[in-house]
Amino acid sequence: MVGIRPHRIEPKRVEIPPPQAEPAAPPEHAALLKDVVDFLIPLLSSFEAAFYLYFLRHAIVETGQPYARVSMRDLMTKVVRSAQTERNVAFTTVQKCLAGLEKIGAIRKEGGPRRGGSLYRVLLPDEIEACREAKRAARVKPAPAVDMKAEADFYNVRENRLRIFERDGYKCRYCAKQLTRLTATLDHVVPVRAGGGNGWDNLVTACFDCNASKTGRAVGDFLAERASQ
Ligand SMILES: [Zn+2]
Repeated sequence: MVGIRPHRIEPKRVEIPPPQAEPAAPPEHAALLKDVVDFLIPLLSSFEAAFYLYFLRHAIVETGQPYARVSMRDLMTKVVRSAQTERNVAFTTVQKCLAGLEKIGAIRKEGGPRRGGSLYRVLLPDEIEACREAKRAARVKPAPAVDMKAEADFYNVRENRLRIFERDGYKCRYCAKQLTRLTATLDHVVPVRAGGGNGWDNLVTACFDCNASKTGRAVGDFLAERASQ
């Protein structure tokens, strides 16, 4: 290579990307992790737990979406070592664990294998019936007293927000879409600009789309308008 002058490389103009919205809210991930550890992992075998975390990391944590493409080979070689052989996890063990995770409703296969593996829908603890049940059983705090419901701020206090979501079963009150802690939003029945407060009775669970399209209108107007479309 001696004597050959390298091509002169023009300095590239670096395009600075515009600032983006935070892809995910860390406190929500922390709450999700808590739920996984508290309510899902106790229902799983050790391999199943390890695989679920691997799925979660390649779905919500990586992309913000509840889907992951995962191959059998990766599950055999990249997740944990087999305690017995201290080597890769056996193919049949992986198959058994996937079946176990599907049975409990923690993952759902969304199509046949392709390059890079099969596509799975990864379900979150709030979407898994057995987890919801465990959570209900573990809940020690009683529902807020009636007068407290009117007084307390159910919009700005995180714990209270969750109480509204739980009351509504994590379903959008307008279109009945099943939501999760990550996708649910709160909507004021009587809009704030019309004097609506942050009390228990003035807040409902809504999906992002319904919340965005209702903005600032009373529920009646919103539903009437939607029905006429
Ligand atoms: Zn909706």
